Amino acid sequence: MQEIKIVKAKTLKEKPDSTNLGFGKYFTDHMFMMEYTEGKGWENARIVPFDYIPIHPASTVLHYGAEIFEGMKAYKTKDGFQMFRPLENIRRMNDSAERLCLPALPEEFTLKALKELISLDYAWIPEKEGTSLYIRPFMFGNDESLGVHAVHRATFVVILSPVGNYYAEGLNPVKISIESEDVRAVRGGTGYAKCGGNYAASMRAGKRAAAKGFSQVLWLDGVERKYIEEVGAMNVMFKINGEIITPMLTGSVLPGITRKSCIEILREWGYKVTERLISVDELIGAAKDGTLEEAWGTGTAAVISPIGHLVYQDVDHVVADNKIGELAQRLYNELTGIQWGRVEDKRGWCVKVEK
Ligand SMILES: *Cc1c(COP(=O)(O)O)cnc(C)c1O
Repeated sequence: MQEIKIVKAKTLKEKPDSTNLGFGKYFTDHMFMMEYTEGKGWENARIVPFDYIPIHPASTVLHYGAEIFEGMKAYKTKDGFQMFRPLENIRRMNDSAERLCLPALPEEFTLKALKELISLDYAWIPEKEGTSLYIRPFMFGNDESLGVHAVHRATFVVILSPVGNYYAEGLNPVKISIESEDVRAVRGGTGYAKCGGNYAASMRAGKRAAAKGFSQVLWLDGVERKYIEEVGAMNVMFKINGEIITPMLTGSVLPGITRKSCIEILREWGYKVTERLISVDELIGAAKDGTLEEAWGTGTAAVISPIGHLVYQDVDHVVADNKIGELAQRLYNELTGIQWGRVEDKRGWCVKVEK
């Protein structure tokens, strides 16, 4: 593949205060871009100063929502910088691309582009405990025509944002409402793809839940409204009677990389982990009879997010005394330990980034 052209920013921005980063509010000095044209492939790979992207008013993404994205992080370790399982994200982006008829990315080249961008903006990787550099690759259909058809042109961009903890609460139990009206995705739809449209469809339930003081909603399947799918931007796991149960990947659930990593770690630790359908009745039954020992969400942004309250049909079920469960804490320590280089990376999950 081609070389990456680099145009450096003439003036560098002031870095934000690392004690109050929040999530996705600040952006680094540079971004990566390239364009795809059918018949020609990806071209014009470049790192340029972070800026607005001019877009044609008829661009496919603005009318038909052809957009996919990824979310991953780079971490400051004691002797450098590293990313966590980046090829998993690139491969998942290609699965999303296939679903939305967007072009595939060359895997190794995309990884190289990420590394070059991060190494140019490495001074933005925050150092404070719990902070990291969030990496947001995204791709959109960019045909300059209103015709409805698979895209012929696409744009791929990577932007970087120094972030703190995803939740203002940090690693504290969150309150989750089980959504029985709206649905996020159905089998055969785009649920397994990381695409903007899924989020657009989920905003209303999220907004209503937030107005009632919930952090996120727990989605049920779109057909029977019976089986647990996932939480907002996280997968979900339950510890019931010592066994870990997580919804199986039916096509309407996003295949999380944190989910996959937790399953691998939990099995190594000797836990029985089962991926299967779990109904809301089974879950609420376990909450009532005390066999639901812990519940937590898994995702890149928050890593592990313990669930302290599950509210279904206006009844509040307290989980693990609304405290951080022992296993959720252990998983959080293991994963963040690997990511920040404090725990030995036995599985070869981290990829170093050179300055
Ligand atoms: C990104 C995402 C997740 C979590 O995936 P990770 O790879 O663990 O970050 C879960 N659910 C949805 C809907 C997502 O978009």
